[in-house]
Amino acid sequence: MNSINDYSEVVGAETINELRTIAAHLEGKIIQNINSTSVGGGVAEILSRIIPLLKELNVDARWDLIKGGEKFFEITKKIHNSLHGIDVSISDEELDHFLKITDDNLKEIVLNGNVIFIHDPQPIGLIKAKKMPGMEEKKFIWRCHIDISSANLKILNFLKKFIEMYDMSVFSSPLFSKKLKIPQVLISPSIDPLSEKNKELEKDEILNIIEKFGIDPEKKTMTQISRFDRLKDPLGVIDVYRLVKKYIACQLILAGGTANDDPESSQVYREVIEKANGDKDIHILNLPPTSNIEINAIQRASTVIVQKSLKEGFGLTVSESLWKGKPVVASAVGGIPLQITHKYSGLLSRTIEGTAFYVKQLLQNPGYAANLGKNGKEHVKNNFLITRHVKDYMLLFLKTGYKEDTIFL
Ligand code: UDP
Repeated sequence: MNSINDYSEVVGAETINELRTIAAHLEGKIIQNINSTSVGGGVAEILSRIIPLLKELNVDARWDLIKGGEKFFEITKKIHNSLHGIDVSISDEELDHFLKITDDNLKEIVLNGNVIFIHDPQPIGLIKAKKMPGMEEKKFIWRCHIDISSANLKILNFLKKFIEMYDMSVFSSPLFSKKLKIPQVLISPSIDPLSEKNKELEKDEILNIIEKFGIDPEKKTMTQISRFDRLKDPLGVIDVYRLVKKYIACQLILAGGTANDDPESSQVYREVIEKANGDKDIHILNLPPTSNIEINAIQRASTVIVQKSLKEGFGLTVSESLWKGKPVVASAVGGIPLQITHKYSGLLSRTIEGTAFYVKQLLQNPGYAANLGKNGKEHVKNNFLITRHVKDYMLLFLKTGYKEDTIFL
């Protein structure tokens, strides 16, 4: 882990001093984060960076996981998809199973935080603990990483019974939330510029890594990094590549992995392999969860990054790519328009044809592509770096646990 002082080179010493000042007000408080997986996907990515940084600031931040078997995670994946507005049917029996596993977790997990910070729907039911003896002083916050603006109402109403028991909720954008009876706070996610995934790499290092995967360093490359999830539309990315390939010699990298709480991914992975149909210019990489340097190198070696999601939470992969100065063509869904201003810091599209058109444009105009990447990097620097995120979280913990005036330091 980097020292907190290392970040002054990126954001300035003032920002770091400010973080230290705020952190001092959290002395003696335990911040307990709970989610459902330690690897795979944006939530785990963020927690794995934020917790050590909070600790660097002497904040007692902890991270626990709930447990659940395959059936539980199949159900929570369905809940996830219905919150995104996808039409999936979830039976009452499945909701009962969800509640049963929640109760099992409640018996096992020790809630020792002063602030209990619950991430996403999987552990949402732990809020039932609030009514138990000894919990009176604790503050419970629900952090929703999903865009629930078009959520399936049956599922949303089921979850609302839990959501509205929390003291506070956090969403990534005003556009993602719904009317709730509890206060809502808006905090965007972030990337860590000094992590293995985002730090600067030497040219040789990049070359070694991509050659290890059989990627041709001389060929123009379009890349999507994402879990093998239907909502990331990897099959649509292959369609995009095939349209582009008619005009420009290029290769496609589809790099992804699976998450412990996402049982659907192996099936989607198989469909991707099948659709690629042995094309030597399509590199499908099923990466283990520790592949941070590899993802960094692949993003840096790419000519254009694509994020053709059908639905999206925030879409950290977009910020990761922009931070590397890469031109990005991405769907205008979820948090992506917060990161890309069309034709200024990237290109937004809605269709396969539109995405292919923009990818071609960028492959043919390196100057234009470089400009978009440069503007994108600046935007990420100003809005989506971990230092801003840590500050927002610390202020949130203060606001939740203290009198109103304490947070205006
Ligand atoms: N990621 C990874 N390995 C993979 C695929 C994705 O480490 O095989 C990372 C990716 O670099 C990003 C995060 O997982 O940091 C994905 O976050 P995002 O918000 O883009 O999507 P989510 O998976 O949370 O829907």
